[in-house]
Amino acid sequence: MLTSDASEATVKGSVPADRAPRKKDEKLWFNDGTLIIVAQDTEFRVYKGQLERRSEVFKDMSSFPQPTADCADSPCPVVHVTDFAREWRHVLGLIFDPDDEQSPFPTARRPHPSFELISACVRLGHKYAMTSTYQAAMAYLKDHFTTSFSVFQKHGSWVPEGDDFGLVHTIGVVNLARLTGERTLLPMALLECCRKGADIVLGFTYSDGERETLVAEDVGLCFAAKDKLIAATILAYVNVFGPLPAGDCKLEDCRRALGLLSQSTSRKALSCPSPNPIISFNYTLPGATTPQLCEDCRTTIKERERRRQLANWKALPSMLGIDVPAW
Ligand SMILES: [Zn+2]
Repeated sequence: MLTSDASEATVKGSVPADRAPRKKDEKLWFNDGTLIIVAQDTEFRVYKGQLERRSEVFKDMSSFPQPTADCADSPCPVVHVTDFAREWRHVLGLIFDPDDEQSPFPTARRPHPSFELISACVRLGHKYAMTSTYQAAMAYLKDHFTTSFSVFQKHGSWVPEGDDFGLVHTIGVVNLARLTGERTLLPMALLECCRKGADIVLGFTYSDGERETLVAEDVGLCFAAKDKLIAATILAYVNVFGPLPAGDCKLEDCRRALGLLSQSTSRKALSCPSPNPIISFNYTLPGATTPQLCEDCRTTIKERERRRQLANWKALPSMLGIDVPAW
């Protein structure tokens, strides 16, 4: 992984070396730092010991070459990494911010971390064996892209809160799951990708202009899954307010309310909704004089809805055409 050339070492990766003149990072350049990390055109000067404590890979690099006497502008060892400067800025920002020492996500100061931050922590944490950084970011993702329907319902939203983690970033979550082998992230992340339109192929853009997209195989997977997900969604719309078993309730208001709810949801089903086989419905009809379901009927329909949601949740991997152990 590490190659040395005179006083400088290189860690192989995916981002080509930048030919632009180097510049010091504005914040992550400590004059008494003991290690310079060069990512693209940016130099970060930080403390080697602190990095070694966080990263098994950097710990192994303790013997990398020392600067030679004629390397006047390199006062300490230099490591070239082939990652995005943006990623290192995020991760080093966490490591060298004492307030974030214990638990980076979420904190009172950062209750809603951006996808960009989470992605950097997962990618570099995975690559450089920064266990605590990786685990904190992955735990945050797993809490939202959960295996538990109850946890999903508790969140009540498709993506984590905050302005910097949007539906489009679920494309990035799929890629992180593929990179790390954390397959339990895939059902929710892919379902959310399937809720996007043709712009799914455009992906999203990071703050430095880099674009991230799904790989072609995952775009194809979403394309194939969408039919099955929509079929399950339409069944949910059509069946949830279907007739109750004979004799369950004799109230005329309930019979009429159920008919109105059924008509309303069937109309919505015809408008070809975004795939959501685990959808929850509204049981209350608008209007002060409109008939409403009695409590017993509400309970019966809610139980029916719950059974359907749990069955579709369980079937998500097969609808998506993926294998997720322990789902
Ligand atoms: Zn009733």
